[in-house]
Amino acid sequence: MSLIFKRALATAKSVVPPVKTVDVLIIGGGPAGLTLGASLKNSSITKDLKIELVEGFNLDPVKKFYDETPEHFTNRVVSLTPQTINFLEKTGSWKFIKQDRIQPYDSIVVTEGLSDAKIEFDHHSMATMVENVNIQSSLYQRIKELEQESELKSEDFGLNLRDNTRVEQITKDETNQWPVVHLSTGEQIKTRLLVGADGFNSPVRKFSGIESRGWFYNRFGVVATLKLEFPVFKYAGWQRFLPTGPIALLPLPDDNATLVWSQTVENSEMLTKIDSEIFINLINAAFVLEDVDMQFYYKQLNKGETEGLIEDIQWRINHATQKYSDEQLEENFPLKVVSIEENSRARFPLKLSHADSYVSERIALVGDAAHTTHPLAGQGLNMGQMDVQSLVGAIEKGMQRGLDIGNPLVLEPYWADRYPENHLLLGVVDKLHKLYSIRSEPIVALRSFGLKAVNSMSLLKDFMIGKVSGK
Ligand SMILES: Cc1cc2nc3c(=O)[nH]c(=O)nc-3n(C[C@H](O)[C@H](O)[C@H](O)COP(=O)(O)OP(=O)(O)OC[C@H]3O[C@@H](n4cnc5c(N)ncnc54)[C@H](O)[C@@H]3O)c2cc1C
Repeated sequence: MSLIFKRALATAKSVVPPVKTVDVLIIGGGPAGLTLGASLKNSSITKDLKIELVEGFNLDPVKKFYDETPEHFTNRVVSLTPQTINFLEKTGSWKFIKQDRIQPYDSIVVTEGLSDAKIEFDHHSMATMVENVNIQSSLYQRIKELEQESELKSEDFGLNLRDNTRVEQITKDETNQWPVVHLSTGEQIKTRLLVGADGFNSPVRKFSGIESRGWFYNRFGVVATLKLEFPVFKYAGWQRFLPTGPIALLPLPDDNATLVWSQTVENSEMLTKIDSEIFINLINAAFVLEDVDMQFYYKQLNKGETEGLIEDIQWRINHATQKYSDEQLEENFPLKVVSIEENSRARFPLKLSHADSYVSERIALVGDAAHTTHPLAGQGLNMGQMDVQSLVGAIEKGMQRGLDIGNPLVLEPYWADRYPENHLLLGVVDKLHKLYSIRSEPIVALRSFGLKAVNSMSLLKDFMIGKVSGK
């Protein structure tokens, strides 16, 4: 071998790190990815698997949340079902949830923006509002606790979590066809099972060639953290279906609340930019006034005309509510919003997507990588948690039977279990969104009749609560 060739070989060896091999490589440190990591390490059957978790963003806010909880509420908040909480309890992570930052609620009041139809679902602790970062932090703390309990050195524990690291490319190993993930750090990881917990744009799904079908709703979800005029005394969520999309105000501890307002592209952009005083008045108006009033305000604001707007909104709200007693006001409308947490306004594109399959040879998809849904029923993250529970069950069974965990025989029961249930929920939510976007009078009359009829049938309502809360 010539000297030049030997030197070139030595340089190449020092630049390209050796390919690391693991049992499970999870892409994504969102709620689904961290739950999968914690669950696999929590299970007596799967705890010895060698796992790597790769996240593109910096997880410092997640790592610090437990010990240095920020004073203000973050704007990404989700409604967790009792079924999800039960699962998180089983993983051992729920005890690390900052309890003073969560808010269970006992009812949800749903109203129609084009009529006076109303339906109220009541059930003690039917769901719990939790910040996404609180969920992620609890899972991170649980992983740390499991590592301490194992009494193994960090490098031997078998769950290596790396953030600030992006997946750049995924290829197949030439000899055994295992997936090889190329990272932004220049490293490569070869894995027996590659799990895409990597959200809507999932690089893992693209690599697997699994098709995903769906559409954008041409709507954005505007979120914000708000202050109410008093701490709430009735723990309720409020949702009003407006023709532009539903607006939901959900309780957080004390006088805090969180907003998800589905809006047209133009209005959503305007809502994230307008003066905060106008913004909060518009939220109050959206729960009380008629569609024609709201359309007038959107038009004015999109033209940049704000003069006299706040006074006009307040006058119309007073006019519309003066016929109600205090008790009726409490029953029919949420508490007034009085201020907004600075910099808490943001908007997210809303879409439906569903992968044709959640598994292929050595690949599994969980959470938003497999499906995304309109937030009107607050189910996206909950569906992802149930995916993880099911996938861990399938891996456990495969290992007990001595099978290779990347084998489709092991993975297919997972997608057979989850796909039909998710498909049904995605379909129902999609139809609800479409049904409530219609302004035609006969349809409005029909759906209002339907809503009132369902409201009078407590058995049916209990069944519906059971379905969405997983009870
Ligand atoms: C406005 C709004 C309100 C919602 N409200 C609710 C609710 O009330 N209840 C509910 O259940 N759900 C709700 N959802 C849905 C919920 O937020 C999502 O379903 C959930 O966050 C998805 O979690 P995930 O872990 O699957 O994906 P994500 O949270 O998207 O995490 C994916 C992770 O993968 C990482 N990643 C992606 N690509 C790469 C790469 N190339 N390299 C490395 N890392 C990568 C990303 O950085 C990200 O951290 C709501 C959604 C919206 C938009």
